[in-house]
Amino acid sequence: ITYITTPIQVFVKLTVQYREGISGFNRFYEILKIDPAIKNSAKPQQLDNIRGNIEFKNVTFRYNEKNIINHLNLKINAGEYIAFVGPSGIGKSTIASLIPRFYDIQYGQIQIDGMDIKDLELTALRKQVGIVQQDVYMYSGTIIDNIKYGKPNADEKSVIEAAKQANAHDFIMQLPHGYQTLIGEKGAKLSGGQKQRLSIARVFLKNPKIVIFDEATSSLDNRSERIVQNSLERLSENRTTIVIAHRLSTIRNADRIYVFSNKGIEEIGTHEQLMKNHGYYRRMYLETSSTD
Ligand code: ADP
Ligand code: MG
Repeated sequence: ITYITTPIQVFVKLTVQYREGISGFNRFYEILKIDPAIKNSAKPQQLDNIRGNIEFKNVTFRYNEKNIINHLNLKINAGEYIAFVGPSGIGKSTIASLIPRFYDIQYGQIQIDGMDIKDLELTALRKQVGIVQQDVYMYSGTIIDNIKYGKPNADEKSVIEAAKQANAHDFIMQLPHGYQTLIGEKGAKLSGGQKQRLSIARVFLKNPKIVIFDEATSSLDNRSERIVQNSLERLSENRTTIVIAHRLSTIRNADRIYVFSNKGIEEIGTHEQLMKNHGYYRRMYLETSSTD
């Protein structure tokens, strides 16, 4: 096994896989086709222990010509549990992808603990952000290698601990060779929920201060969703958490919900406050909760 360690290697490896046409290639790794324009500043600042405060100051971002984010301001305090909701295609995933600097903004500033992320050493910055997505990338190695993906030098004891935290240990132990079981091509032998729990185990192992769940439970059945939701809640303890939610039922306890529309931030509040608002959120909540 050769471990992927730097963004450049990720880029090369994934470009190769992409050319080979491996199906199910997911957007997170598409995003990881690191833009070569995104580089360390002349004297990048190393990061050890961040607290996890995030601030967007008047941020404008466009892909090519298309403006996605206009003069966005938002402030998330360390340890908060925040949700982004709003119609699909509005820019929620894009906003989240700006935090690990997968793209550079055209205007404004994004800060972590008051530091402009452009001044932070890129690898160190990305170590501080864990992402769990709906389509999880697995490669055809063993379970243990897949969990160690983000931290190749981790010892077995910490891998098992991370798997336990992610509610993955028990199903792993039932596999033919436990942690040494080879995952079928791109995880074909695992259910969607199991793959997600492995990806959550990866994040536990990586232990970042900021975590992003991007519609992570939207494709799961109810039982599986509850198990994943439980591990996500455990993962969010003592970390700044941004949940991009499809099912509004999963974010009822959020400290703050940002409701996005094509005008930008439409409403901000807790679930209770937004329900009292009789606005966009309430309408969306009533519409979706009847079908879920
Ligand atoms: P959401 O997560 O709210 O559904 P996204 O952030 O995924 O929205 O997308 C916002 C808009 O940006 C959409 O119009 C989408 O087509 C576009 N978009 C997303 N990713 C890219 C990309 N890599 N290149 C160009 N356009 C993109
Ligand atoms: Mg999205």
